[in-house]
Amino acid sequence: MLIVMNHGATDAHIRRVIETIEEMGYQARPMPGKQRTTVGLVGNDGKVDPSRLMALEGVLEIIHVTQPYKQVSREWKAESTVVRLPGGLSVGGEDVVVIAGPCSVESEEQILAAARAVKEAGATALRGGAFKPRTSPYSFQGLGRKGLGLLAKAREETGLLIVTEAIDPEGVDIVAEVADVIQIGARNMQNFSLLKRAGRVKKPVLLKRGIAATITELLLSAEYLLAEGNGQVILCERGIRGFDPATRNVFDLTAIPLVHRLSHLPIIADPSHATGLREKVTPMARAAVAAGADGLLVEVHPHPDRALSDGGQSLPPDQFAELMRQVRAIAEVIGRRVAEPAEV
Ligand code: PEP
Ligand code: MN
Repeated sequence: MLIVMNHGATDAHIRRVIETIEEMGYQARPMPGKQRTTVGLVGNDGKVDPSRLMALEGVLEIIHVTQPYKQVSREWKAESTVVRLPGGLSVGGEDVVVIAGPCSVESEEQILAAARAVKEAGATALRGGAFKPRTSPYSFQGLGRKGLGLLAKAREETGLLIVTEAIDPEGVDIVAEVADVIQIGARNMQNFSLLKRAGRVKKPVLLKRGIAATITELLLSAEYLLAEGNGQVILCERGIRGFDPATRNVFDLTAIPLVHRLSHLPIIADPSHATGLREKVTPMARAAVAAGADGLLVEVHPHPDRALSDGGQSLPPDQFAELMRQVRAIAEVIGRRVAEPAEV
């Protein structure tokens, strides 16, 4: 960490910075320059509180030389993490994995129809929320445990893997009984007690980027999972809040190559929540695969007009089948392939 002093900082100001660094238990290296002095802080173990230094008189700015996260970084582990899923599927390798299904599990008929349709089109995992983190307490909250049972039934029939969300620490173990991958949603990306609990289960976690989270914050949330011992983490770019209501969110495509550079963890994309608009889902799915996404999360409903949540962004089965055809072609161009469903 570098503490850059103001042009007019006095010797006393610089001395105070040096003393503060030493009081914090680190070494200070003053570097006088022509225009200003910079003080290097040596021995940063990630616990330095920069605001304490920033508040000192004469300090202009603080430059972070190292990232605040450790285990998720490429510096920590150079080779990409491949998250292994049951049935030989893996995320973060050559394959592009497509996870599809409704926003919420609504009924046996609905989830089975969705599962059959997405499998037919070539998806390898079924998504569907049994516990839903809704913005309004009056919106459909999900079927809860009954929904998990229906997901298990859909897996039994189709062989699709199950991705479903845990919304609180107590729910992690319940969801882990059925889920092949535990989803942590955007609204919970910084629910640290949930992250800690999910870090202690032996199931892969799909961690979605928070609604207004920076890439650093996303990686720090993933760090919680790794710090608790769970290295099976898949990140997900699902759009961030912007100022323009033309789309539900702003799809941050750059997050994909950026995360690949900063971290060894795989990152998939969710063009459904990123855009909120059915007609934009397929083009953005193509773009995400072209940008190097390790997979896609797509909302598909057998009858989107009857959906209890996110119907407006859900694809009907025929449009999803077309999306699959298009992303297969894109994957091939960049030397990857869309993972094929296992034979049941
Ligand atoms: C979802 O996947 O249905 C969901 C609620 O997504 P997000 O947490 O990204 O809003
Ligand atoms: Mn949804």
